[in-house]
Formats: sequence, structure tokens, C-alpha cells
Amino acid sequence: MTARIIDGKAFAAGLRARVGAAAAEVTAECGRKPGFAVVLVGEDPASAVYVRSKGKATLAAGMESFEHRLPADIAQGTLEALVDRLNADPAVDGILVQLPLPKHLDESAIITRIDPDKDVDGFHPVNAGRLATGLAGFVPCTPYGCLLLLRDVLGDLSGLDAVVIGRSNIVGKPMAQLLIAESCTVTVAHSRTRDLPEVVRRADIVVAAVGRAGMVKPDWVKPGATLIDVGINRTEAGLVGDVDPACAEVAGAMTPVPGGVGPMTIAVLLRNTLVSAARRGGVTLDAAI
Ligand code: NAP
Repeated sequence: MTARIIDGKAFAAGLRARVGAAAAEVTAECGRKPGFAVVLVGEDPASAVYVRSKGKATLAAGMESFEHRLPADIAQGTLEALVDRLNADPAVDGILVQLPLPKHLDESAIITRIDPDKDVDGFHPVNAGRLATGLAGFVPCTPYGCLLLLRDVLGDLSGLDAVVIGRSNIVGKPMAQLLIAESCTVTVAHSRTRDLPEVVRRADIVVAAVGRAGMVKPDWVKPGATLIDVGINRTEAGLVGDVDPACAEVAGAMTPVPGGVGPMTIAVLLRNTLVSAARRGGVTLDAAI
């Protein structure tokens, strides 16, 4: 068997196009474009690249982008005052503070300061609680992107056995919550899990979010399983995921790295910003967004 390779890049392009079309409708109904504010503290080159691509994608989707670049030595109070201003700004529907922040800043206090209804990254504890209790809120972009790919490949996920490897707040835990909401039977594995290969072998769906190159091996995989590889590992051979590409011989479908989950994150960020603008403007969106 050779797995179907899930084209996350193409799916993300389609989602961005749908978001762009809906953004034009929201703009027409509300008399202003959906607005996304991104805050970058310091000069970290990787963060600067992410912020630039988020800004470009926002403009390409017909939304307003507000970029705030602040010096690395900014005081906690000054950054909090900026968040307060963005919370109060009617032109801003979504706020993202690029992480990680410099060590002297209290990251958790900044995330908690963002208005949960503008928290398009979905990291605010109120949004984590909404996800866990089935209320409408914002879901972190990467796991939501994984869910969209899974639904596209498998349709109804109800009753399937899913294993999420990794329990971070930004990927593993929200991914597990989303799969529970889809009526999967969910196991969350982590560094203390005993006999991980045996746990993975039971799964119809595997989401790997660890950060260890090629960790998931072909003999761990149930024939026909769907593998979603969130891992991004820089090696001498270039970017690789957490799933050994040889798993394609056993799996039914799998995401490549790059070109799988990666492109979904920004597309979902745009989608969340659109959803925020629509909610705030009282506009009903097409359910397919
Ligand atoms: P993280 O916070 O470092 O969490 C990694 C998780 O993996 C932890 O829960 C850890 O367990 C678990 N783990 C570590 N070693 C393990 C092992 N040997 N067996 C089983 N589990 C193990 O990472 P993250 O932020 O969730 O990110 C995970 C990966 O996804 C990274 O490669 C990251 O670059 C990538 N990522 C990609 C995107 C994207 O595509 N847009 C977005 C976010 C992250 P413990 O909790 O026990 O320590």
C-alpha cells in the first residue's frame, strides 16, 4: 500500500480563497475590512519571518493588517498598555502577540490580557475552557488546521481511535479536545508514555506533535491509518517531520513535511480573524468557512 499524500498546501490555498471571498462580504456589510493586529517584540529572525508572512497573507485575503514592532527591552506595562489599546480599538478583530517573548516579560500575563473575543490564536485560558466545554470561541490554529485536513480525508471521524503524541497547550491538548468533540476515542501520549509503538498501533488517526525527527516508524502504524505530522525539525537534510516518510508504505493517508500541516496554520489564523469580524459585526457566515 502507498499512502495518499495529503496536500495541505492546496487545502490551505482553498481555505484562504474562501476566507477572502467571505471577507469581501463582511467588508461590504460592515463598511470596514476585518482587521488583524500582530505584535512583535524584539528581533528574533524566525519570529520576524512569521510576522511578515502573516501580514502579507492578511492583506492578500482583503483584510487590514496592523503591525506593531517593539524593542526587545520593552517594559511589561508598556506592552500591556498596547494590548489594552488593541482590545479597545473597533478596527481590530484579531490580536496576536508573537511568541516567544523576551525572558523578562510575563508571557502568561500578556496572553491573559488579550480580550478572549479577539484572541484569534486561541491561547487565552477562556478559549481553552470554551473548547473543553463545547462553547464557541477560538481554537488554536495548528490543531484546528489538522482537524480540517482529517475531516477532508475521512469525513465523519465518529468512533475512530485517535492517538495524539504530545500534550502542549498549543497543539497536543487542543487537538485532543477537538477529536473528543468529533466523538473519537482519544489517547494522549507524551514523554512518559509506556510502550508508545503499541499505543500508536491501535490508532486509526495519529497526530504527531513532538519535535523529534522521524520518530513514528512504519512498524508502529496500523495499516490504513491516517497520519498527521505536526513536527517541524531542522536537519542537515532540510525540514523533516516527526513521522518517518517510510510510513507511507503502511498508512492510508499522511501529511508531508513541508507542505502538510504547516500551510494550514496561517490559513486558519485568517479564518479566525474573519469569524471574529463577522461575530462582532453581526454577519452570518457560510458554515463551510
Ligand atoms: P512542545 O511544547 O515541545 O511539546 C512536545 C510534546 O512532545 C510534549 O508533550 C512532550 O512530552 C512530548 N514528547 C517529547 N518527547 C517525547 C517522546 N520521546 N515520546 C513521546 N512524546 C514525547 O512542542 P509543540 O509546541 O507542541 O510542538 C510540537 C512540534 O510541532 C514541534 O516540532 C513544533 O515545531 C511543531 N509545530 C508546528 C506548527 C506548524 O506546523 N504550524 C505549529 C506548532 C508546532 P512531555 O509533555 O512529557 O514533555
